[in-house]
Amino acid sequence: MIARVTLEIALRKEFDYLIPGELAGGIDVGTRVKVPFGPRHVTGVVTALVETSPHTNLREVASVVGSKGAVTPRVLALARWIGEYYCCPVELALKSVLPEAVRREEAKWRERLHVTALPPPPETPRLTPRQQEVWNIVEEWRDLPLQELLRLGETTVETVRKLEDKGLLSIAQRVDERDPYAREKILPTLPIAMNTEQEVSLKAVKTALDALPVYDEADASDHSQTAPRPFLLHGVTGSGKTEVYLQAIDHALSMGRGAIVLVPEISLTPQTVERFKARFSSGPNATLVAVLHSHLSTGERHDEWHKIRQGRARIVIGARSAIFAPVDKLGLVVVDEEHEHSYKQEESPRYHARDVAVVRGRREGVVVLLGSATPSLESYFNAKRGKYQLLEMPSRVTDQRMPVVRVEDLRVESRKSRGGMPGIFTDRLREAIHQRLERKEQTILFLNRRGYSTSLQCTKCGHVAGCPNCSVALTYHRASNRLLCHICGHEEAVPSQCPAPGCGNPAIRYSGLGTERVEETLAKMFPHARIARMDRDTLKKKEDYRRVLTEFRLGRIDVLVGTQMIAKGLHFPNVTLVGVLYADLSLHVPDFRAGERTFQLLTQVSGRAGRGDVEGEVIVQSFTPYHPAIQFARRHDYLGFYEQEIEFREQLLYPPWSRIALLTLKGRNEDKVRLSAVHVAKELGVRLAAWRDLVIAGPAPAPLLRAESFFRHQIMLRTKSMARMGRALAQMQAELSLPDDVQLSIDIDPVNLV
Ligand code: ADP
Ligand code: ZN
Repeated sequence: MIARVTLEIALRKEFDYLIPGELAGGIDVGTRVKVPFGPRHVTGVVTALVETSPHTNLREVASVVGSKGAVTPRVLALARWIGEYYCCPVELALKSVLPEAVRREEAKWRERLHVTALPPPPETPRLTPRQQEVWNIVEEWRDLPLQELLRLGETTVETVRKLEDKGLLSIAQRVDERDPYAREKILPTLPIAMNTEQEVSLKAVKTALDALPVYDEADASDHSQTAPRPFLLHGVTGSGKTEVYLQAIDHALSMGRGAIVLVPEISLTPQTVERFKARFSSGPNATLVAVLHSHLSTGERHDEWHKIRQGRARIVIGARSAIFAPVDKLGLVVVDEEHEHSYKQEESPRYHARDVAVVRGRREGVVVLLGSATPSLESYFNAKRGKYQLLEMPSRVTDQRMPVVRVEDLRVESRKSRGGMPGIFTDRLREAIHQRLERKEQTILFLNRRGYSTSLQCTKCGHVAGCPNCSVALTYHRASNRLLCHICGHEEAVPSQCPAPGCGNPAIRYSGLGTERVEETLAKMFPHARIARMDRDTLKKKEDYRRVLTEFRLGRIDVLVGTQMIAKGLHFPNVTLVGVLYADLSLHVPDFRAGERTFQLLTQVSGRAGRGDVEGEVIVQSFTPYHPAIQFARRHDYLGFYEQEIEFREQLLYPPWSRIALLTLKGRNEDKVRLSAVHVAKELGVRLAAWRDLVIAGPAPAPLLRAESFFRHQIMLRTKSMARMGRALAQMQAELSLPDDVQLSIDIDPVNLV
């Protein structure tokens, strides 16, 4: 037998190796192996078992690494698809599929000595006062790690050993799982009685689950033909989508099926995780809930992954990469906030977890449920065309009304201030904050830009302090009194005079607004208000995030100022006012999705207002108050926005009417980058000449020409048939010769065009 092996060192090829007699039976598709490669041994994954090879003089597999089947055939098939579609080597795709901690086997189960109380001996042994104290602890805990006992009892190993000798307890080595949520107290919850809209949605999902064929472990073939259609659950914020997910998962569990829940990294708060853990901590379908996200330690990741692989955790909740979790008998995949761009990985393999979810669901015959208050144009388009099944929940659960949204025209404010910049707060917003403070209600203020002021400009010569590595202005951060680049992190001191040659003007103007300045201004305006700021600068540690949120929840903060971090899924009943300070910010990004993103952001942010008994109010400040994205968001009119936006996309053949491949060339020498881009564009023109629906835009400098000291030029391809495109581009990339110091990256279905 011959093993076809994909090596972990990134080579776009597979190699054949003989399986020696002593390893036969221990090697399967998905087994990791060590094989000779040149003078070295390298690790790889068996992707196929074959009888014959086109090559001669095959070398032998040296050894098997780890236990059999770390990669299931299904997951392997998915990795192959990712490699092909996203135009990257399979072994890179495999790296995403299998966490580093599992692949390298650096982390192991942690074994620790545990002390366990034994059934009491017939005759109670005599104990010294010291021993009695320690025994009291053991008796109370019944079972605890030895280290913990030593700490609690302020005692020594000898004392504990004496108790062991007297037959009161045993000391043994045991696996001790690292549980990142071990300190949480989780109270079980029961299903909530649903309203009609929820019932209808749930019933549709249950019906699809009931229709799933019997699960066949060994079957890794493509089930696309019989696949249930994915669902798109379009439900306004507060419509009770999560409850639908929970009960759908419960149904899957009762059928013996597992579930994956994807949530954007930023929404993967302890609050979210607890909601899932609590529901499944007891009852007939009780199971462990594994959590996968990027902040886990290597050890935690190892444990969570193996809990899933061993079938003990039937539910996985996690960010992007959780879509690859090896859940036993997978039945349901939920993708919450499916429109979120963080589902896209911004390095190779540049996969989109929502799209991978749909593909995994289709291939494995699994029910996929996408949910959002503001579905992506792509998903809603699919629903309209019948590719997805649309479920709608247009009202909030407790019949709370959607908040009133008022748009404030900053141009009018600007005129009031005689052509100068308007103040940070319009009169209406200032008054509204004041009212909330009086009524002891809470306010959220949103500005998607951190720092104090966004540029530093000389009033005499106009020089702007820019980043030496990127084509952006430096942001002034007052707390640290430094200038900071938000692209590459470059930092420098604030100049005391204009640094431009021959200028030296001491008057430097700080312009442009950041959260830091909002906080400061607010504190001056309302000296008695308790104000907190939440952005990347204030949240250095992962505990910071939850600390601020807990304080806000407990009512110890009146006004919370923040970036998009605070726009997402949070639920605070006492927030009755949301202010969006500068809605235009996301409109002016050079990206065809700028309007969509603004609409989504405004809708999400306003979803934070009025989730309790008091009706909410949202005040949106803007220089372009009549922009459709702002006006449709004001009226909570998703469909209206969709209809006008989809027309614009059709005219320009932008997604969802087409798919995009974005080719970026980057290097430190701008001329070389530019010429390489021209060369690639020519090559594409020749190679893809026969593609009829293809639009090639560029080459052109990227909107952000220079980032982290690299110059970037781009070519954008738009076509309806992306599946074939991946292969064509991979081939071109392999055959093309570019200068050594110019790199070509290919992004299929990009979400970030800058
Ligand atoms: P969404 O995810 O759509 O924003 P959630 O699922 O978070 O909404 O629901 C908002 C709140 O309403 C939660 O506190 C949830 O427990 C509660 N809830 C959900 N369904 C119902 C219901 N049918 N009746 C009462 N409360 C509900
Ligand atoms: Zn920079």
